[in-house]
Amino acid sequence: MEKVDITIIGAGVVGLAIGAKLASLNKQMFILEKNTSFGLEASSRNSEVIHSGLHYKTGSLKAKMCVRGNNLLYRLCEKRQIGFNKTGKLIIARDESEMKVIERMKLQGEQNGVEGLEILSKKELNKTEAYVKGFGALWSPSTGIINSHELMNFYVKQFEKEGGIIVYDSEVTNIEPSSRGYILTIKKENYHFLSKIVINAAGLFSDHIASKAGIDIDSEGYRLRYCKGEYFSLRRKLDVSRLIYAVPPDELGLGIHLVIDIAGGMKLGPNSFYIDNIDYRVDTDHKHEFYTTAKDYFDDINEEDLFPDTAGLRSRRKHGDGDGFRDFIIKEESIRGLPNFINLIGIESPGLTAAPAIAEYVASLVLSMPVF
Ligand SMILES: Cc1cc2nc3c(=O)[nH]c(=O)nc-3n(C[C@H](O)[C@H](O)[C@H](O)COP(=O)(O)OP(=O)(O)OC[C@H]3O[C@@H](n4cnc5c(N)ncnc54)[C@H](O)[C@@H]3O)c2cc1C
Repeated sequence: MEKVDITIIGAGVVGLAIGAKLASLNKQMFILEKNTSFGLEASSRNSEVIHSGLHYKTGSLKAKMCVRGNNLLYRLCEKRQIGFNKTGKLIIARDESEMKVIERMKLQGEQNGVEGLEILSKKELNKTEAYVKGFGALWSPSTGIINSHELMNFYVKQFEKEGGIIVYDSEVTNIEPSSRGYILTIKKENYHFLSKIVINAAGLFSDHIASKAGIDIDSEGYRLRYCKGEYFSLRRKLDVSRLIYAVPPDELGLGIHLVIDIAGGMKLGPNSFYIDNIDYRVDTDHKHEFYTTAKDYFDDINEEDLFPDTAGLRSRRKHGDGDGFRDFIIKEESIRGLPNFINLIGIESPGLTAAPAIAEYVASLVLSMPVF
């Protein structure tokens, strides 16, 4: 049976970032991907925002990885000519009660280590973005946007340059722990091989992978649900140059916001609702909801200018961590009887921003394994 040192399941931005980080260790490595190319799921169906880290509970992995990832991403983009734009973002308060919310958000952001946060009065907001309506705003200068495809392309090249192999069209269907590692089965031709170390970065399906390895995903809080987010693009651009967000309406997401891509294209989204089966269609009946939300912030918007764009699915953990907050799970699973097996579960937003920091963290777990 063929043997390799390290296998990563999933060629999304997280699996690729981990691969690129581990590539220099000079070990035999595979990334297995069920699709015919990399990054076709959550990693290419998102807002491409480099988040600052202000939204996440202080001390959580989400907060730590986002703040670190933000820093690492800007440095990487500059060094490797990956497209980005440090636009900054405004979270708009519509009234006094929302001003109180953004003040609390500023405090949390500062506790998380986010720099440069500022509360803007109505007058200051008008001066900054004349065409945005609001009572005041929270200004986050370290938020920006990135070309996620260029980022993933860079990681692929980095991984392959060091001899790593990405095997496409290779769905992992079975995982059998053995004394020398894990025997992985790939659907195509029912192929088996042995891997000393396994890293589960399978996004929406990472709970299935954990379950195949023998983990009880319900009792461990690993089970995922698909939380859908749709986008509508704007045919006519608004006279705005920064990312515009509402105060998050609920725990499901950050709320419909104005996204500006690298080429200057504009879209609104994503909304948030749970679905049971994978479905990337955008429901045109939701257009009015997008329009009415946006109308609160922009006078200059017409419903006819909105067109269905893409949709993505968040890997949302079914149950929160007691207080409702759902942190990333990134664990080496010796304690669950699976030594040298690392699970990454619930890597929803800010997973794109956090990817380089997650990769650093996973590399530290790998380097501390006795098998190394
Ligand atoms: C609507 C939306 C908006 C978002 N906006 C942002 C944002 O602005 N900023 C931000 O930082 N984050 C954002 N995110 C989050 C971000 O997109 C994700 O956290 C990130 O892409 C997760 O990457 P991943 O590699 O874990 O998952 P994925 O990109 O889903 O990759 C997992 C890969 O594993 C493969 N796979 C699954 N099962 C198997 C198997 N059995 N065998 C082999 N391969 C398998 C899949 O085919 C897939 O390619 C957003 C997400 C969504 C859905």
